[in-house]
Amino acid sequence: MDYKVAFANAVEQVRSEGRYRVFADLKRHRGAFPRATWTQDNGVEKDVIVWCSNDYLGQGQNPIVLDAMHKAIDETGSGSGGTRNISGTTHFHVELEHELADLHGKEAALLFTSGYVSNEATLATLQKILPGMVIFSDELNHASMIAGIRHGGGPRHVFRHNDLEHLEELLAAAPADAPKLIAFESVYSMDGDIADLNAIAVLAKTYGAMTYLDEVHAVGMYGERGGGVSERDGAASQIDIIEGTLGKAFGVMGGYIAADAVIIDAIRSYANGFIFTTSLPPALTAGALASIKWLKQHNEVREIHQERAATLKKMMADAGLPVMPSVSHIVPVLVGDPVHTKMVSDMLLAEHGIYVQPINYPTVPRGTERLRFTPTPFHTDEMMRDLVGAMQKLWAHCNIARMGGQAA
Ligand SMILES: *Cc1c(COP(=O)(O)O)cnc(C)c1O
Repeated sequence: MDYKVAFANAVEQVRSEGRYRVFADLKRHRGAFPRATWTQDNGVEKDVIVWCSNDYLGQGQNPIVLDAMHKAIDETGSGSGGTRNISGTTHFHVELEHELADLHGKEAALLFTSGYVSNEATLATLQKILPGMVIFSDELNHASMIAGIRHGGGPRHVFRHNDLEHLEELLAAAPADAPKLIAFESVYSMDGDIADLNAIAVLAKTYGAMTYLDEVHAVGMYGERGGGVSERDGAASQIDIIEGTLGKAFGVMGGYIAADAVIIDAIRSYANGFIFTTSLPPALTAGALASIKWLKQHNEVREIHQERAATLKKMMADAGLPVMPSVSHIVPVLVGDPVHTKMVSDMLLAEHGIYVQPINYPTVPRGTERLRFTPTPFHTDEMMRDLVGAMQKLWAHCNIARMGGQAA
């Protein structure tokens, strides 16, 4: 077998569908978020505005966070030196887990090296601990949740996105005495819609199910202290396991779950994705700790963030751009095919210094390819005017259907 041809064919398949992924080479400017330098293929540099970062609140550049990271390196060095079991539990890890438990009003929390790992490891391990557990999974759940659910190997049912009638139908049809888990997200990051946490918790109680909530796109950004939608909606105590990331709004890296102490202790004891990997470097945990503490006390940042997102949505809608009906800080604009999405993204970058990555299958269903804007408290009115102006030009140029269905 010619292995190289097989790999080349696999890549060609992606390319022929117009969804070959090209990563923009960026260098962010400390203190000037959301500005960055883009290095083009030919080596030429260009200054750009980043419109698609998941560093939603600019915490990746908050001096409070950077100072904590510098201090941790100066005091303790670079890596943690081992798994949590073998000398990799630093004082920073312990403190951070306490902080995360407090953030969600839970007894305990457990750190992982990323949000992906926390979902994969926890969802697989829950099925180990509760054999025969039936999992009910929202159809738009993140790839990391799906990976964990599959890895666990137990019975599972997928319910239509945010469709609680369908969820209830499936719950009612499952054996009454089987352990059950409902796995879902709060803010869905590609459409920007938000699940009804309290209603799902009521269903869980009715059918004797546990609840597992991915709050990756909400922690730091919703709730009076940044505890997520579960805090905002007063639902945290009704959710058994809350999962989050330290890599998006908190601006650093890492993942975690928060839950009752006994649940955390069990996952800690059985999850290979926790046990057999070197723990996060102290600098990351120190930075995340500083970020969480700071955001707890700065609700005004969350208010500005929501205002910025609402303003951009309104400006785009007023300009007749097909902005999708998001109720969160995420501003998706529908294009509807991968070739045009990439073309618009490329032209925004090359001609207007605007960086927004195309979102393609399998991240979103085919036919719903889109641009996904994430305005932060640091995106100004002027940046928004430039963006909307550039998009209007491109929409006319590319003849993409606008709101109402007619071609512009
Ligand atoms: C990004 C993401 C994750 C993974 O988090 P990382 O910390 O980036 O690994 C998990 N769930 C959702 C919904 C995400 O968007």
